[in-house]
Amino acid sequence: MAKSWRLAGTDSPRRILEGISASQDVRVGKVFLVKSAVDDFVRRRIEPDEVDMEIMRLREAIRRTREEMEGLQAQLARDFGKDHAKIVEADIMILDDPLVVNETVRLVTEEKRNAEWAFHGGISKVIDALETIEDEYLRHRSADVKDILRRVLWNLAAPSRRELREIKEPVIVVARDLSLAEMAQMPREMVLGIATDRGGRYSHTAISARDKWRIPAVVGLGTVSQSVRDGDTIVVDGNRGVVVISPTPAEIEQYHEEEKRLRVQVTRAKPESREPARTSDGHELDLSANIETVDELDLVISQGANGVGLYRTEFTFLARGDLPGEEDQFEMYREVAERLKPDYAVIRTVDLGGDKLLPGLHTPEDNPFLGWRGIRLSLARPDMFKTQLRAILRASAYGSLKTLLPMISGVEEMREARLIYEEVKENLRREGIPFDEDCPLGAMIETPSAATITDFLAEESDFFSVGSNDLVQYTLAADRGNEKVAHLYEPMHPAVLRMMKYVVDTARAKGRWVGICGEMGSDPLATFVLVGMGYDGISTNPIVLPEIRSIIEAVSYSEAQEIAETCLTFRTSADVRAYLRRNLIARLKAKDGA
Ligand code: PEP
Ligand code: MG
Repeated sequence: MAKSWRLAGTDSPRRILEGISASQDVRVGKVFLVKSAVDDFVRRRIEPDEVDMEIMRLREAIRRTREEMEGLQAQLARDFGKDHAKIVEADIMILDDPLVVNETVRLVTEEKRNAEWAFHGGISKVIDALETIEDEYLRHRSADVKDILRRVLWNLAAPSRRELREIKEPVIVVARDLSLAEMAQMPREMVLGIATDRGGRYSHTAISARDKWRIPAVVGLGTVSQSVRDGDTIVVDGNRGVVVISPTPAEIEQYHEEEKRLRVQVTRAKPESREPARTSDGHELDLSANIETVDELDLVISQGANGVGLYRTEFTFLARGDLPGEEDQFEMYREVAERLKPDYAVIRTVDLGGDKLLPGLHTPEDNPFLGWRGIRLSLARPDMFKTQLRAILRASAYGSLKTLLPMISGVEEMREARLIYEEVKENLRREGIPFDEDCPLGAMIETPSAATITDFLAEESDFFSVGSNDLVQYTLAADRGNEKVAHLYEPMHPAVLRMMKYVVDTARAKGRWVGICGEMGSDPLATFVLVGMGYDGISTNPIVLPEIRSIIEAVSYSEAQEIAETCLTFRTSADVRAYLRRNLIARLKAKDGA
């Protein structure tokens, strides 16, 4: 839980906030505060000469919202029939409701409230009225009206979101919560570090800060966004999981020294090989890397990965804020295939949803991680899905690609996706467009349901990749991005280990290749277990890849098997961790001494 304290016995503004380290390293810098469009909208009294401007902003935000809703209505009509689309029609009408519009305009013109505050006031009357009504249906309608409020506030904030793209000097980004979509908008070279009130170590934003941007990040700080202002100096200390607000000059110097030391260490680590990894007795497994964009390939190759085990393609969708067309996607996937050849790359179809929402595609859901996410969304949007599959298959002619489907939870989804895959292939054949006829179609194992029917799925799926990040959160019912349950989110939990062992045994018995691409693959403590369980491949964050390689080399296959067996006998994750720590230290020492 987040804690904070002041320097004892002084009036110094210096404070330390304690959170969760999401990405190591340290940085000192000036704060750039990101406001959440919905939760943090500014309530401001305007000057009389600003009234027209605020009314214009409102009209523009309402117009954009109407356009979005009409797009949604057309999509619903296409996918589910006209009756479903009628629900949205009723929502659109609220945007013209005289009660809302007149009250909003009155609040701007008479009470001189800014647009956000006025619209909030205008629509709140409708929400309050609906919430007091006995009728259950009408009470539920208040959730739809709140959705309209969110959308209009989001559109009112569009210009300030554009500011994210235009950060011009190096800053430390501070936010209540930072979505991956917001992060994708920012110029990477200008972001020194990240500090957020909310979030856990395994949220997609945290993973991106760690794997892709390699900047320090501390999340779950509780109140950092209320404790600093734009331009304040702070330290993000991802090594200790703290943020120092208004550090003393001596501290700043000390942290600068630490920054320099760490940079030297990183440049020193030089990998030698792009071979598969080998245990000390020659058992081989693929050692590949995870990427989010094509520009990470240089690093992946220089770190000695023998392939890309997970390409999270949705990052590009989020950075653009829309759905890229076939040609744009084809160019990206082709570059990956060509640059990695003869090694393979696993291209995962978009895993949008959960904490990766694309405005215009998503409407707010009560439980987004249990909602319209991954393959569910792709199957509901066959146009989008087919475009992506065509791009992947066309690119497969230029190297060795595999297609991976996120969030599979049952055989039906796999079958439906396979039918579409075959249809896309058939069309390409007919058009005379080359592609790899054997480009495999695999399933991510990241839901407990998929894990427990691995044997059935093996009949539908050419290979498997375990997404431990989601498998852990769904198995343990602990949100990967919620700091309050971060202590329950535990990859070494006996239930997770059992499930992972079952998956690998079952997949192998059915002759299916099975790898892991979740963050567990990047945790040195988990390496012996994964090797010993018999995983065919580990895909890691590119930075730790050389370290994971040397850990694999420090153990024989039979020793790793024994270690994995022993781990499965422990009843608590603490016991598993203590045992693995002892083993890792002993074997690395033995390797160094050899
Ligand atoms: C996972 O869930 O482990 C995974 C690799 O997918 P993501 O982190 O993108 O959800
Ligand atoms: Mg996942």
